[in-house]
Amino acid sequence: MIDATRTSNRQAIPILTYHQIADAPAKGVPFRSLYVSANRFRQQLGMLKALGYQGLSMRDLMPYLRGEKQGKVVGITLDDGYLNNHDAAMPALLDHGFTATCYVVSQLLGKSNVWDHGIGIEPAPLMDAGHIQAWTQAGLEIGAHTRHHVNLVEGEDAAMQDEIQHSRLDLEDVLGQKVDQFCYPFGIHDERHVEMVAQAGYIAATTTERGQVLNGADLLTLRRIPIVRSTYWPQFLLKVLTSYENKHIPHGTAD
Ligand SMILES: [Zn+2]
Repeated sequence: MIDATRTSNRQAIPILTYHQIADAPAKGVPFRSLYVSANRFRQQLGMLKALGYQGLSMRDLMPYLRGEKQGKVVGITLDDGYLNNHDAAMPALLDHGFTATCYVVSQLLGKSNVWDHGIGIEPAPLMDAGHIQAWTQAGLEIGAHTRHHVNLVEGEDAAMQDEIQHSRLDLEDVLGQKVDQFCYPFGIHDERHVEMVAQAGYIAATTTERGQVLNGADLLTLRRIPIVRSTYWPQFLLKVLTSYENKHIPHGTAD
């Protein structure tokens, strides 16, 4: 096993990506991989804790990403803001003393994952305003994921700028606190959108590009590590503790 907790003098930090924390629908339904059961999620947090790792929200991870602090830390992110994140992920996170960032779609609070319906993914309820308030009151973090879960490369620049900037303002209105973290919907973006995210004042943004993050990396295009239904514990540990996921990084572009 290759120890990649250090690459030269830079710490390699895993940021995990989850979607739904629930039992997967029946076989044959597309994208069953995006479900991790509540029990499995809890077991994964328990493994991290037993190994001495602290699971952190993006806000809490920032000093490590900037290289100001070193330690056994793992970023925990959940995309889209499913109600099962509130019902199942939140209690498990709190029981382990961990934090996490959930990226929500600001104009779809209390609705459902309408952006997925066309590709056969089962409708699932999203957290409403009260749920995301409870999430932040528990010390967990809400990040922005646009206003309508748009594909940024398909829209007009002005509209996409609004999706990026206004989602933050929508959420700040609901939460009464700053929202500094962003996640590109579908993981799709180009350099224009990175600039828009910077203009909107976000501190950091995550993608679906795979791999660990080396501290000092560009904060607006952070790589992550997907944890899916089929991620059993040996692979979970490989993904978190080793350079396993970095095989996806093209040679010479580890930043
Ligand atoms: Zn999403």
